[in-house]
Amino acid sequence: MTNINMIFVANWKMHGNFNDISKVKTVLNLIKNKKYKKIKIIYCPPFTLIKSFSNYFNNTKLNIGAQNCYYKSDYGPYTGNVNAKLIKSAGAKYIILGHSENRNEGETDLLINQKIKSVLKEKLSIIFCIGETIDEKKKKITFQVLKRQISKGLKGIKNTNKIIIAYEPVWSIGSGIVPSRNELEKNIKKIKKILKQFKFKNSVKILYGGSVNSKNANEISKIDGIGGLLVGGASLNSKKFIDIIKKTSN
Ligand code: PEP
Repeated sequence: MTNINMIFVANWKMHGNFNDISKVKTVLNLIKNKKYKKIKIIYCPPFTLIKSFSNYFNNTKLNIGAQNCYYKSDYGPYTGNVNAKLIKSAGAKYIILGHSENRNEGETDLLINQKIKSVLKEKLSIIFCIGETIDEKKKKITFQVLKRQISKGLKGIKNTNKIIIAYEPVWSIGSGIVPSRNELEKNIKKIKKILKQFKFKNSVKILYGGSVNSKNANEISKIDGIGGLLVGGASLNSKKFIDIIKKTSN
């Protein structure tokens, strides 16, 4: 049965302008329906739109997040950077960290760990992305990769109440390819096993991300252990995003 407490994250990546914000109102209208009472929507637009988003959707059921942050928690001479404190002051409550597009640009597990700690200091929540590349999958080292990303990324973190994990196989992001049901089930189990090994709470939510659309959303959302979806490309279009939400509630 579909989980009625699903979380849907819209990752706009480096897209969107001011005029796009009002188009998201249709998503808000949908979730006003009793049927969707328990779901959570988190929009993560680029930094430049966070304040406008939070003004527009102030006091509504729509949550706002950022897509990354600088690792230093204090203000300072760090030209061009935006930290959790600044993001919080703009009205966001969530920050995506460890996205493969940033890991790919050189972001290490250590840096992600520092960022996670800086976000927790501000009492914001984290959508912590993990996932294997196609080479790692072919080498059959997915378990080791996920274990390294979780153990190093969450090193020193005792309380995982503000952490949501997003399992995003790198080869699935933006490719139109999603893992088979069997593979996804196995990898979610692997993540749960790793969380248990490191004594993290069993209640940590695990989202799936990678080429989610209205055709595959229903099947993915029914997989045991999946508590939500992180949607990139399809979230830029409110109609497509709404279709995904509706499909998961059938
Ligand atoms: C993402 O940005 O994390 C993502 C899952 O993108 P897409 O849905 O476009 O594959």
